[in-house]
Amino acid sequence: MTLLLVRAWMSMASIERNSSMITKIYQLNLRYSHVDLHIHSIYSDGKGKIDEIARKAKERGLKVIAIVDHSLDHPLGLNERKAIKRRIEMENAESKHGIRIFDGVECAILENGELLLPRHDFDLIIASIHSALTPTESYRRIKRCVEKHEFHILGHLHAEMFSLDGFDVEKDAEILDILEENDIALELNSYHRSPPYETLKLCENKRLLYSFASDAHEVGRVGDIDFSKKVAKIYLRKGRNLLDEIY
Ligand SMILES: [Zn+2]
Ligand SMILES: [Zn+2]
Repeated sequence: MTLLLVRAWMSMASIERNSSMITKIYQLNLRYSHVDLHIHSIYSDGKGKIDEIARKAKERGLKVIAIVDHSLDHPLGLNERKAIKRRIEMENAESKHGIRIFDGVECAILENGELLLPRHDFDLIIASIHSALTPTESYRRIKRCVEKHEFHILGHLHAEMFSLDGFDVEKDAEILDILEENDIALELNSYHRSPPYETLKLCENKRLLYSFASDAHEVGRVGDIDFSKKVAKIYLRKGRNLLDEIY
């Protein structure tokens, strides 16, 4: 991929953190409302082929997308072989449709904060809670994950389907501090409408990184990021869009 922007793969055992995790390669005149960094394809549980997703993204005026299929923790997720095949298709779709496509993965945060990733040079890694957990357990996993792994985006924090017993605003403040310190973006997920407003209110005075996400599993939802744009405007006026850091 010619515009490989982020080279983030580190071994699972590594706890090192590279502070310049996201490397600026070149400048583009980009309005970040034209970005969707969370799309699934037939390479995991999505319905769209890579080319169909890229065509739809182009039609909807998107300039940059990330296809972030699930990882080894998911029965239909990416393995090394699928990741290589998918990358070739993404490169072809990139030149055919003239948009940027990041080679990404969405990985579940497992017990003890582990991420199970295939050996592959992903541009972008999203780490998300994918089991229904109590707040105490999800906070514990997220903290451990940040200590152990390098990733770029914390996906859909407190998405309702994965939250038992709500959430704890004090602990949220701690998590947001950890994200800020480690240059990890908070995802604004339009499908799950996450994070909840109570958490977003805590972001108002922070220089947090954030990202826009449709979490589309169907081609028709590629670029559905209205919620992400709306809450960024209200709650993250001091924040930094991840794309601004990449470009
Ligand atoms: Zn997810
Ligand atoms: Zn997802």
